[in-house]
Amino acid sequence: MKNSAVHVELGARSYDIEIGLGLIDRLGDYLGDLLHRPRVAILTDETVAGLHQDGLTAALDQAGIRWSIKALPAGEATKSWTYLQQSVEWLLSEQIERDDLIIAFGGGVIGDLTGFAAAVLRRGVRFVQIPTTLLAQVDSSVGGKTGINSPHGKNLIGAFAQPARVIIDVGLLNTLSPRDFIAGYGEVAKYGLLGDAEFFAWLEENGPKMAAGDMELRARAIRHSCQMKADIVARDETERGDRALLNLGHTFGHALEAATGYSDRLLHGEGVAIGMALAFETSMRAGLCPQECPSRVRAHLAAMGMRRDLSDIPGDLPDADGLMALMMQDKKVQAGRPRFILARDIGQTFVSADVDLSLVKSVLQDALAARA
Ligand code: NAD
Repeated sequence: MKNSAVHVELGARSYDIEIGLGLIDRLGDYLGDLLHRPRVAILTDETVAGLHQDGLTAALDQAGIRWSIKALPAGEATKSWTYLQQSVEWLLSEQIERDDLIIAFGGGVIGDLTGFAAAVLRRGVRFVQIPTTLLAQVDSSVGGKTGINSPHGKNLIGAFAQPARVIIDVGLLNTLSPRDFIAGYGEVAKYGLLGDAEFFAWLEENGPKMAAGDMELRARAIRHSCQMKADIVARDETERGDRALLNLGHTFGHALEAATGYSDRLLHGEGVAIGMALAFETSMRAGLCPQECPSRVRAHLAAMGMRRDLSDIPGDLPDADGLMALMMQDKKVQAGRPRFILARDIGQTFVSADVDLSLVKSVLQDALAARA
C-alpha cells in the first residue's frame, strides 16, 4: 500500500493528514519536524493503551523521543469536565511547555478531549491526532472541532483548535470490534450521501469487502473521506455555511443518543446512520427527493449489517414529542428552530431551517410505530 497525504488548507493553520499502513512503526519520521525538543505527552484510553501503547512507545524510543502517557477510561463519559481537568493538570505536572507537542492516541472521545485540553493548556499547545477508530480516522480527527459533553447535551463545551498533523495508520483498525468498525462506517457512507453520489455507488459495491477486512479498500475510502472533509473545512472552518452538511443525520442522531443516555445501547455512528435514513425519509415525504432514495439508503445500511431503523435500538424510547423535545436541545438550533440537512437526491444535500416540524413528527411517529 502506498502512503499518501491529504492537505488541509487553512493558511497559517494548514496541515497534512498522512495515511498508510504501519505509520506508527515509523512515528519518528512523521513527528520529527514538529518537535522543538524530543519530548511528547500522550493521552489515550485504557483499551487503546492495552492494545497499541507498546508499538507506539517503541517507535518513539527508537527515534529518541521522550514520552509520558496517561490512559483514561474508555467511553463517551470521559468527554467530561472531570477528565478534562485531570488531563490538563497531568500535562502541567509533566511540565509540558508551550512549544511541546501533545498526542491524541485513540478514538473520537480521546481526540476531542485531548484537542480541547491542548487548546486551553497555557493558552494553546500544538497537538497531533493519531486516530485509532474508523470514525476518528474519517471524521473527528480532522477539522479542529474539540470539546467535551455537558449534562445539558453533547459537545456543548469546546473550542476550534486545528491539529498540527493527523497520522492515520489503517493497520490500527484491525483490533477494532466489528460493531465499532461498522458504526464508524456510518460516517464514511455520510460523505457519499451528503455530496458525492459516485462515491456512494463505489461504497455500495465495495463496502462489504471493506467490512470483511480489505485494507487497500479501507485506505481508499479513508483517503476519499478525509479529502472531502478537508475540502469542506478549508471552505468553512467554523461552520458558517457548507460545513453544516457534515451534520447529515445528526439532528435525529443526537436526539436518539440523548434518549439512550449516551450508552452502549446506541453508538454515535449508529445514531448517525439511523438519523441519515430518517433525514432521507423526511426529504422524500417533503417531496424533495425521489421516492427510491430512502430505500436505497436503507438497503446499503442493511447490506453493511448496520442499524437503520428505530426498531434496531433495544429498550424503550420516548414518544415522538419526547424525541422532538430532545432535537430542540441540539446545538444547531437557531432562534428556536432545529436545522436539518435534507436531500434532493443521493449526494445532493442542503441545510434547511425551514422544515415542517409536523412532518418530522409524523416521520418519527411512523418509525416508532414500526417498533411495536
Ligand atoms: P471512542 O473514542 O469511544 O472509541 C470507541 C471504542 O473503541 C472505545 O471503547 C475505544 O476504547 C475503542 N477503540 C479505539 N481504538 C481502538 C482500536 N484500534 N482497537 C480496539 N478498540 C479501540 O468513539 P469513536 O466512535 O471513535 O468517537 C466518537 C466520538 O467522536 C463522539 O464523542 C463524537 O461526538 C465525536 N466526534 C467528533 C467529531 C469532531 O469533528 N470532533 C466528529 C464526529 C464524532
